[in-house]
Amino acid sequence: MQIIARRGAEDAEKTTADSSGGWGTSLRWWLSLFWLIGCLATASAAFGAGEFSGQKAYDWTGKAVALGPRPPGSPAITKLQGMILAELKAQGWQLTDEAFQASTPMGPKTMHNLIGRLPGKSGKVVVFSGHYDTKVMEGFVGANDAGSSTGMLLELARVLPSLPRRDDVILAFFDGEEAFRFWTDTDSLYGSRYQAQKWQKDRTLSKIKALFNIDMVGDRDLKIIDEGNSTGSLRSLVRASAIDLGYQKHFLVGPQAIEDDHMPFIRMGVPAVDLIDFEYGPNNSWWHTPQDTMDKLSPKSFQVVGDVLVEVFKRLQR
Ligand SMILES: [Zn+2]
Repeated sequence: MQIIARRGAEDAEKTTADSSGGWGTSLRWWLSLFWLIGCLATASAAFGAGEFSGQKAYDWTGKAVALGPRPPGSPAITKLQGMILAELKAQGWQLTDEAFQASTPMGPKTMHNLIGRLPGKSGKVVVFSGHYDTKVMEGFVGANDAGSSTGMLLELARVLPSLPRRDDVILAFFDGEEAFRFWTDTDSLYGSRYQAQKWQKDRTLSKIKALFNIDMVGDRDLKIIDEGNSTGSLRSLVRASAIDLGYQKHFLVGPQAIEDDHMPFIRMGVPAVDLIDFEYGPNNSWWHTPQDTMDKLSPKSFQVVGDVLVEVFKRLQR
């Protein structure tokens, strides 16, 4: 993205049948059974259906980062595409791998937007999007940018199917957000520009009632900006949800304008909001540097953003 202007267990005891029988054996068997039930209850409380786990989102981010630098067309991003598609399929999403040719300053590149869809009944669509490519740069593994958006979307892929819905839900993993050289209108946002045009042609665009784009949301010192290009009603919805969840201190007041993957949709009149923390390290000094590593992130930050996204989704489905 580019800134435009700123303002201000232990192992379960084996319960194999003991042919010797007797009260002692029977009691141990029952105790083991109760212990097992207790563990299952705890596990479901921690990762209940419809409940977002910041830890799981963080763990997905770690898996993406472990693949190394993930620029468009790289062997690492190809592996990541396989991981994303496998997880979406496992969670019951309808999949589309949108491959397209992008003309870049480094020549033509094949890119892939990965789209998951859950059907609803209202004829309207809610989209959660983010990019999963990393900037072409020596030694850059992109934990926050774009590991965090990748991890967030993968955890949303687990959570969203179990939530009540009226609308279709789309999860969009955009390729090619980063500029290959310097950020311009033509060298940036390759995936989201492609997708906005595609959805204009197939008429999906006019059905989108809200698009939530996430980028750089894992910083342990989490401060989500009030992005100034975003749709006012959605900015208000995000803020109200954050306040009601007690997360107000992580959401800055006073608009700052950022160009990110929401912009091609904003320009086509789609209600969209960008959730981004654009102060990463002292004076943003970890952004687009080899310093962007997992130790700068916190599962708690993923929890905050994930809880807010689940809450805004619930409010939009009432
Ligand atoms: Zn970036």
